[in-house]
Amino acid sequence: MDKLPNSKSLEPGYTLVLFTEDNPNLLAQYSDLFRVCHYHDFAAWQKKRITPSAFIVDGKGPNYITSTLDQIRRDKEVFASLCYVSGPVSNLSNKLVDGQLPEPSLLQEKIHYFSDLEKSFKYHETDVTHVGRLIKYLWLRPDFILEPYHFWKESRFYSYPLLDALSYDELDSFEWLRSLANTKILELAVLTDRQRECANCRSSHLSFIDVCPNCHAIDIDMKSSLHCFTCGCVDTQEKFVHSGALVCPKCSTQLRHIGSDYDRPIENYICQSCHHLFAEPDVLVRCASCEKEMIPDDLISNKIYSWKLSDRGRMLAARGDELDVASSFDQLDFISRELFVHDLDWLLVSSRRYPDITFSLFGIYFVNLPELVSQIGHTQVLQMLEAFAQRLRSMLRVPDLSTRSAENLVWLLLPFTNEEGLHGFQTRIETSLNALQQDNELRLDVRFVGVSASQIHEREDAELLLARQRSELM
Ligand SMILES: [Zn+2]
Ligand SMILES: [Zn+2]
Ligand SMILES: [Zn+2]
Repeated sequence: MDKLPNSKSLEPGYTLVLFTEDNPNLLAQYSDLFRVCHYHDFAAWQKKRITPSAFIVDGKGPNYITSTLDQIRRDKEVFASLCYVSGPVSNLSNKLVDGQLPEPSLLQEKIHYFSDLEKSFKYHETDVTHVGRLIKYLWLRPDFILEPYHFWKESRFYSYPLLDALSYDELDSFEWLRSLANTKILELAVLTDRQRECANCRSSHLSFIDVCPNCHAIDIDMKSSLHCFTCGCVDTQEKFVHSGALVCPKCSTQLRHIGSDYDRPIENYICQSCHHLFAEPDVLVRCASCEKEMIPDDLISNKIYSWKLSDRGRMLAARGDELDVASSFDQLDFISRELFVHDLDWLLVSSRRYPDITFSLFGIYFVNLPELVSQIGHTQVLQMLEAFAQRLRSMLRVPDLSTRSAENLVWLLLPFTNEEGLHGFQTRIETSLNALQQDNELRLDVRFVGVSASQIHEREDAELLLARQRSELM
């Protein structure tokens, strides 16, 4: 490997890597304090992969800057590096960069502070998990706020370019944020926006159309109408006009005085299709992305937040000794234990009232995690768990819920699953776990427990049931 010796041992100072299209002398005044290497682009740097104390990106086209920054943030080794730019950048680039290039002495100070933080970083899963990379990135930037990027072409108007880069686009940012909040690694900073999204595809590109409440045709018009008091007929004004006078088209009464003979009803719209008269059109929402139509009440309300690293996230970064099962089960979208208990209670009550409603509760207990970690290390255990979680995920259906009540204990709530279905589910999990582990000498020791609605005591609530199932597992 053609790598420079660790830059921190170099005299003088640190190494800077400059990416520039046409300005190799940009850092001339930095050469007293820094060793400078420059490359035309990321691909050229890839050949030597000198790990610098900071990257400087200089370019005229916004695409050059954005794509260089994006490649750095997606790199398996240098993703968390300090990155500065030498001029104005796009909003998108702004989410991936540490700011404008500081003066040499200030830059030196910043790098010094950064490398101190780097030395105190202890979290083990940085190389293997998306969460690990995110925690490292945020740990190195104590005041960093993870902000959404607004762009009208995005199907949800907002995205988190840093999350997309750190997860290699493998996770949906909004789902990931939800799970990072559930596992208390991130916490809310600021509410940026609230918007309605399509219930089918979560796009926020929606159009609202007024339609006839009777036949749903879009061809509706505003028309003045009249209401005859004699026979109750309601129709458009033009139907009442006969040689200059107002005559009811139904009962032929001449209408002279508004208030005593007739009035103007609030039905001011007419449908050209079915001729229905109405006061308020219905509103229909059409999604521009998936073209599904729905009523406004069906839209999903989504809050767009900025986020920051939580105390727990900081603790993980600094101590690094917690084997976080949750992170390897990210893909299962754990809900909070409180919500899980609430939903379980609801299903218990519903299934007692309506015997057609059935469900099952399924517990998974990892018996030997600490032993395995000491034998094969964090990384491999996490990979095992991730592989298992992936199989498990493929077996779950959309309404299935999962939560975690202890480090090594996962609960699944399976609606519409009876005793027989539960039995099949357990068999599939066991088969899949065996297939996964057939070549491993050291195996994940996993115990299961399952109960379906018909086997639950009449008086038991969610907490009692969970406690009883838990004692069967341990
Ligand atoms: Zn109509
Ligand atoms: Zn009439
Ligand atoms: Zn849609």
